[in-house]
Amino acid sequence: MSSITGEKAVISRFLSKVKITDSGCWNWKDSLTFGYGHFWIKQKKYSSHRWIYEYCYDSIPNEYAIHHKCENKKCCNPCHLEKVTSLEHKQKHIITYCKKGHEFNTENTYLWQNTRLCRICRTNNVYRYCKNNPEKVKASELKYHIIHRPKRIEYGRLYRLKNRQLINENQRRSRREKHVY
Ligand SMILES: [Zn+2]
Ligand SMILES: [Zn+2]
Ligand SMILES: [Zn+2]
Repeated sequence: MSSITGEKAVISRFLSKVKITDSGCWNWKDSLTFGYGHFWIKQKKYSSHRWIYEYCYDSIPNEYAIHHKCENKKCCNPCHLEKVTSLEHKQKHIITYCKKGHEFNTENTYLWQNTRLCRICRTNNVYRYCKNNPEKVKASELKYHIIHRPKRIEYGRLYRLKNRQLINENQRRSRREKHVY
């Protein structure tokens, strides 16, 4: 009996450390290690997402990793987690795209607290800021960011070139949809 009570106490303690967001992610509110939540049970440290995965589904063999389908490391929603082999996991993280569709290659990836950020989008933000706030940004600084603009445009051109078929298809589809309505 006592072990069942103990188990209930552990899971309710776990759930009290989670904040459910609008996106459906269960963000870990407590301390993080390299961006991942961690959880203590009887002086033993567990990775929160791995712990909840094992609790809900299955044990995790050594050669397997738990991947966040939502790409949110803080998330502990068991529905956002999947068990993959270490190799599959590596591949999943090799070629992915930012929300705007820019490839996360080595050149375009900026690591911020262990999260990948898109340099093209960052530069875009800086450029927009400089353009909108010329009085706040010194002329020399503004010039610096404008110099970097062609690089960004080049990325866009290469992306379109590489994905021309996909883009054409999308355009055709949206034209078709316009005809229907
Ligand atoms: Zn999530
Ligand atoms: Zn992953
Ligand atoms: Zn981007």
